Amino acid sequence: MTDQARPVPDIVTAVPGPNARAHVAFDHAWTSPSLPRAYPIVPVRGEGCVIEDVDGNRFLDFAAGIAVNSTGHCHPRVVEAITRQAHELIHFSASDFYLPIYARAAETLARIAPMAPARVFIGNSGAEVVEAGLKLARFHTQRPNVVAFVGAFHGRTYGAVSLTASKAKYHAGFGPLLPGVYHVPFGSAGLDELEARVFTRLMPADEFAAVIVEPIQGEGGYVVPDDAFLPRLRELCDRHGILLIADEVQSGAGRTGRMWAIDHWGVEPDILLTAKGIASGMPVAAMIARSELMTWGPGAHGSTYGGNPVALAALLETVALLEGGLIDNAAVRGEEAMRGLRPLVELYPELVREVRGKGLMIGVRFDSGATAEAVQLQAFERGLLVLEAGDDCVRLCPPLVVTEAEVATAVRIFGEAVAHVAAHRAADIAEVVAEERAGLASETVGG
Ligand code: PLP
Repeated sequence: MTDQARPVPDIVTAVPGPNARAHVAFDHAWTSPSLPRAYPIVPVRGEGCVIEDVDGNRFLDFAAGIAVNSTGHCHPRVVEAITRQAHELIHFSASDFYLPIYARAAETLARIAPMAPARVFIGNSGAEVVEAGLKLARFHTQRPNVVAFVGAFHGRTYGAVSLTASKAKYHAGFGPLLPGVYHVPFGSAGLDELEARVFTRLMPADEFAAVIVEPIQGEGGYVVPDDAFLPRLRELCDRHGILLIADEVQSGAGRTGRMWAIDHWGVEPDILLTAKGIASGMPVAAMIARSELMTWGPGAHGSTYGGNPVALAALLETVALLEGGLIDNAAVRGEEAMRGLRPLVELYPELVREVRGKGLMIGVRFDSGATAEAVQLQAFERGLLVLEAGDDCVRLCPPLVVTEAEVATAVRIFGEAVAHVAAHRAADIAEVVAEERAGLASETVGG
């Protein structure tokens, strides 16, 4: 529990404070240097939208562990569900045996899926279910190739990273990647290119198993496509017998004010992937597929830990909370946040290019990556946690329990951070960023 008598944010040391600095040094001695690390927050406890760090600083969390803590930190009902399940049964592989909560979670996920009837494979991480989706699509269609979009992020395992095209560094040094992946621009123009160039000149449409798409791109910068895009993509897939995979790992679980972002366009995918917010931070991911596609047999796919009962207890409680009001809250609070942030475009036209998103999936695009990074760090120093995305964006993705007052505080602090950055020349910003980051974090975030 955090100290509720204290305000939020409440920054009592220079950040990072002495304990955080010491911990960062310790961490750097032992952990893989591949971890991106956006800035030196060292959390020890959380409650709702509040995070307390090792120095006793209280932050307002609009990053939510990379859009994961949908019900807020340590929601009492989620804690209760996890505790209850942990006393009953912690692990019994659902791949090899019949774990009751696994089928119950699958039934729930199939019920909330945009397509019916559906069946479900449960895994542990977004990337794991991207792999599952890829395998099922190839297996079912017996076709080898896949289309993905420029700017997409699908994860870091070999199949998923081959589909990813948000930053070249995710591929650097890892080749050769999975063959048969074709990338086109995100949005309607990409579909023109798919038909006119890829299907006509490179590979016929009937050689493609699937198109994988984030209905709203996440790590690529919270990019909302034009309204024609997803309906046209559905039609194109139907015309060519290609499966449509919606990667809702970041955009799903109520974040955009609907259960799934694709619901905003009334499009039904063939396969839907969920993770992150669906279990409030416990490691659960799921591939939900139209039942008729599940033509693979025993042994074709599985996972030792996938569908861990403690994690699934959190999932069931999370879905109940989402349906019990949090999705509606995301829609209302998202509108308030957008209304509060949009004036920044007029106030700082040289720096702030766009405020975009749906619900509580909000991206602010700046003139450059250096500005985005400087705003992120200024927000951190003022006690607001946000997260960079894409080349030049900052994402705001708070827990769905966020209140009107917390939105107002975040908008105010974000505005102050932008004002501070605007008051410095671009060259100074780069210098300040370099100084602040020295020894504390690496280049850019991802996820
Ligand atoms: N797909 C999307 C849209 C994501 O945003 C992410 C992670 O950020 C992934 C897949 C990979 O998820 P994970 O990091 O759990 O493997």
